[in-house]
Amino acid sequence: MSTTTGPSPDRAAAEAPDRAAAEAPSRVLVLNSGSSSVKYQLLDMSDGSRLALGLVERIGEETSRLAHTPLLDGGRATRERFGPVPDHAAALKAVAEELAADGLGLDSPELAAIGHRVVHGGLRFTEPTVIDDEVLAEIERLVPVAPLHNPANLLGIRTAMALRPDLPQVAVFDTAFHTTMPEAAARYAIDVETADAHRIRRYGFHGTSHAYVSRETAKLLGKEPEEVNVIVLHLGNGASASAVRGGRCVDTSMGLTPLEGLVMGTRSGDVDPAVTFHLMRVADMSADEIDTLLNKKSGLVGLCGDNDMREIRRRIDAGDERAALAFDVYVHRLKKYIGAYYAVLGRVDAVAFTAGVGENAAPVREAAITGLEELGLAVDAGLNAVRSDEPRIVSPEYARVAVAVVPTDEELEIARQSYALVSG
Ligand code: AMP
Repeated sequence: MSTTTGPSPDRAAAEAPDRAAAEAPSRVLVLNSGSSSVKYQLLDMSDGSRLALGLVERIGEETSRLAHTPLLDGGRATRERFGPVPDHAAALKAVAEELAADGLGLDSPELAAIGHRVVHGGLRFTEPTVIDDEVLAEIERLVPVAPLHNPANLLGIRTAMALRPDLPQVAVFDTAFHTTMPEAAARYAIDVETADAHRIRRYGFHGTSHAYVSRETAKLLGKEPEEVNVIVLHLGNGASASAVRGGRCVDTSMGLTPLEGLVMGTRSGDVDPAVTFHLMRVADMSADEIDTLLNKKSGLVGLCGDNDMREIRRRIDAGDERAALAFDVYVHRLKKYIGAYYAVLGRVDAVAFTAGVGENAAPVREAAITGLEELGLAVDAGLNAVRSDEPRIVSPEYARVAVAVVPTDEELEIARQSYALVSG
């Protein structure tokens, strides 16, 4: 039986809103529904504590697995269930049973809302939104620009609505934080009529994380978000950068879809668009095959066969040249975006690393920042090597720009936004 790791309940508690709302329903269930998985966390927003978290994976297969971790009283022992979970309705029913076994059932009057991560909110959804039929129809209308994500998000929402029709269900959109991007950053330089007819523009993703991390970085600097300019580097299996001026996003690296920008675990990031029609012509590949190539067989996996940065570092240490090439391509792209967003912002107060690679891979941070001393950027080797779950600065005292490691917490952010909306 495995033990789930994650942001500590203590850290969430430390960031909690005040306890004034303790009497009112204060729990929020956060659901992140993928096509074959549902991740969830139950938080109590009266003190920001995490009560339970878990995951149902391989939904629709024979080998589905549910891993549930109650966090009450500091307990972190994970319970697992194996066996077929045919669909999202069955998945959520199993989650409800696990929560009920801990006295945290979804029928509890203490539940204030269910907060849903929704990947694509287009231009319409700039804020978290209470879901009704019209909102559902709009999320559905955005399926053509988010074919992998929005249908799965909708499944999760509809299932949760059927389970608790009386409860506010809130959609928190990955794209929302980026809707402040100016047209100069959001527009592709293609024919305007064609672009508008098909809603082709740069939307950006990971917005919940960029919003959370840019705010936490300001806090780490002892400033208000309005006072600081931050470059946020969200480096997980998916990866994106953003330029945040005074708390508002002014540019981000993902575009119409989460394929653009940085090198990722399995996604190429930026390529010349002509690669697509070149492959159609010379390799007789279909649009779907190229879609799969660029989204699933590219990035670190395409370059060296591995997408896990730990394994890539291990191979580099053993003298593996393909792993070294993958690392170099990854870091080169990262450095280009740091430079580009420095230019976009004009003045930078901090560069913040977050997500699996950003929080854990000290060599990536060091390699990306090395050589940027003229920009006021430097990494202190000792500070950078420290492992911690806490937000921290890893640049030396003398550096003009802070380099920070700020663990992201998208679930806490979704819970906060959902609770703020329903508690009014
Ligand atoms: P995420 O999508 O944020 O969960 O990030 C997942 C990725 O983080 C993995 O694919 C790894 O590449 C990377 N990662 C996680 N832990 C470590 C670590 N200790 N050192 C280096 N990379 C890590």
